Amino acid sequence: AAVRSPATTAVPQVRFEDIGGQAAAKKELLEAIEFIANREQIARMGIRPLKGILLTGPPGTGKTLLAKAAAHHTDSVFLAAAGSEFVEMYAGVGAQRVRELFRRARELARKERKRSAIIFIDEIEVLGARRGSHSTHMEYDQTLNQLLTEMDGIAVDEEIQVLVMAATNRADMMDPALLRPGRFDRMVNVDLPDKEARLAILRLHTRQKPLGDDVDLEAIARQTFGFSGAHLESLANEAAILALREGLSEVRQRHLVEAVDKVMLGERLDRKPTE
Ligand code: ATP
Repeated sequence: AAVRSPATTAVPQVRFEDIGGQAAAKKELLEAIEFIANREQIARMGIRPLKGILLTGPPGTGKTLLAKAAAHHTDSVFLAAAGSEFVEMYAGVGAQRVRELFRRARELARKERKRSAIIFIDEIEVLGARRGSHSTHMEYDQTLNQLLTEMDGIAVDEEIQVLVMAATNRADMMDPALLRPGRFDRMVNVDLPDKEARLAILRLHTRQKPLGDDVDLEAIARQTFGFSGAHLESLANEAAILALREGLSEVRQRHLVEAVDKVMLGERLDRKPTE
């Protein structure tokens, strides 16, 4: 894995309104992150703080966006990392990177004068898969153990409240130790969008694009069963490129229709034979 420091964006600009569909996921998340706003009350009541939220669902459905929106909503600094970044040939390096991530989160919050930090770990299954199931399991175990240690160490009366949000499309692979109370004890399912949600996402991603009178986004939403938000974003982008290639100043329905095929074809070509 490439050695790169976690992407830091202080407080992200993504709002829940910028995410199409996902009504259930948004509602659950909003309830879960309430505790950041009410931490004094929570501490007074002796309630165990929420330390981890696990977002599960297929790729490109908005898990990263939801984590960013949660940070925006709670005025928290946001740090992102991927499970694969912690995997190293040398023993202890992964664990050290986990420690570093938590240290940096608190440091960034302090620097930005924020009271909370959200750490987002994508592809958590890479380091959170059942222990002993990896070929080089020693290294993964140390890394996972360090993550659990850091999470166990989160206290409600800390100056900086830390919340870990992790994403996976393989919830079935997760080490049960991660799902125990006080760790990732909230699971939020982020599904592929239904027709209404696809329409909402198409509207969001064509907001900044000039659309011709003949454009019927509902028809496109009907034709895109199985598309993720990421597919729909790419569809809208492809359609605008096709229009531009024809020297037009607006996107027509046929561009969108052609883009549906392009995205579908691209998806088929990208797919590995084992999937
Ligand atoms: P992965 O598991 O592959 O990391 P993810 O679920 O984290 O995927 P995101 O990174 O949040 O997906 O989404 C990728 C891009 O797809 C977003 O930047 C956005 O352009 C688009 N997108 C995905 N879902 C939505 C949505 N619900 N509403 C609007 N745009 C979306």
